[in-house]
Amino acid sequence: MNIEEEILAATEDFAKKHIAPFEKEIEREGKLVEEKFRELGKHGFIAIPFPEKYGGLGESFEFYAKVAEKIAFESGTLAAVLGAHSLSVFSILLGGTEQQKEKYLPKMIRGELMGSFALTEQNAGSNPADIETRAVKDGDFYVLDGTKVFTTNAGLSDIYVVMAKTDPARGARGISAFIVEKTDEGFSVGRQEDKMAFPGLPNASLFLNNVRIPKERLLGRENSGFIIAMKTLDLGRITASAGATGLARRALYEAVKYAKRREQFGKPIASFEMIQSYIAEMGAKIEASKLLLLKAARLSNEKSRDLPKFAAIAKYFSAKAAADVARKAVQIFGGYGFIEDYPVARLYKGAKMYEIIEGTSEIQKLIIANSIIKEIE
Ligand SMILES: Cc1cc2nc3c(=O)[nH]c(=O)nc-3n(C[C@H](O)[C@H](O)[C@H](O)COP(=O)(O)OP(=O)(O)OC[C@H]3O[C@@H](n4cnc5c(N)ncnc54)[C@H](O)[C@@H]3O)c2cc1C
Repeated sequence: MNIEEEILAATEDFAKKHIAPFEKEIEREGKLVEEKFRELGKHGFIAIPFPEKYGGLGESFEFYAKVAEKIAFESGTLAAVLGAHSLSVFSILLGGTEQQKEKYLPKMIRGELMGSFALTEQNAGSNPADIETRAVKDGDFYVLDGTKVFTTNAGLSDIYVVMAKTDPARGARGISAFIVEKTDEGFSVGRQEDKMAFPGLPNASLFLNNVRIPKERLLGRENSGFIIAMKTLDLGRITASAGATGLARRALYEAVKYAKRREQFGKPIASFEMIQSYIAEMGAKIEASKLLLLKAARLSNEKSRDLPKFAAIAKYFSAKAAADVARKAVQIFGGYGFIEDYPVARLYKGAKMYEIIEGTSEIQKLIIANSIIKEIE
């Protein structure tokens, strides 16, 4: 076995022994999330795509995508926690100074520090150029004021990468990224959101009330925050696509197991052609999602100019596929699919998240269409 095969086998083994037995606690009761995140870090799963210099394994992004997909098969909650944490790590890696990288990355890569990425605000979701959070320079400090919404991992995170306007007149070009620490005075987290799925996934608003942070916590250069955020989201869309693909694969797995067991008209329902047609469509969409996911991940390794387009395609396609696959899984379960005691109702609701996070499906389509229109003269 080469290192990749070894780690993929270790991921499956870890997921079977340390995640699957706790499905009820993690997915339904929202317990153990922090503990399991720390375990993922301790076992080196977070470290895969990050440079060895900061304690990473220096492996490819394709490999990371495969691992994230396997984690998502067992736990959508942990995959999303890992995805949100990765966003904060990517931001520091892409935009941070050497000092910032040395200070934060090793601990974040080992899972000793958890991170969040805070861009969205009440009046700025699909159009983040409109954020209103302000950062005003005051000598050797910046003073941050504003509110972020929907921040994943909020409350559990130690580090928050926060986007704020340093030059409001310049729109997107006047945004900077900052590292806010959970103990900073004036920083607080709102109540946890009551979501339609993934009850254990931490998600809340952040309140920044006169938060005074040293200028060394400006990520990279002033007014470079929007570029950092967009580059971060290109990578985040790959992990979101991995999450959606893992969820879809789980829905297919549950549906096929059930279809082989459940008998009607004296036969397993898996023998009916209409059920087989669903299974074929589900399987084909999952395989297509996997290929697009791996293509986007490969382009990110190659630092290709095509990454934004293919990250958007992978995220758009796999989110749509997951929603469709999970819906068909519920159909295959019949009435039992509608009952929460069975696994597919949870997957059906969870799949919806992927059409919204890291840019909605409509925004992915805008990115894809703009790229294609530019390419064809
Ligand atoms: C579970 C969850 C976790 C999240 N985690 C994070 C996080 O960690 N950090 C973070 O910063 N944010 C996070 N978000 C926020 C998420 O990124 C936003 O919800 C998303 O980008 C959409 O923004 P919005 O909700 O303001 O919707 P809006 O932007 O108001 O969009 C509403 C609708 O209008 C459509 N629309 C908007 N503009 C256009 C257009 N130009 N053309 C066509 N249609 C358009 C949208 O596609 C959508 O259907 C999270 C959200 C959820 C639900």
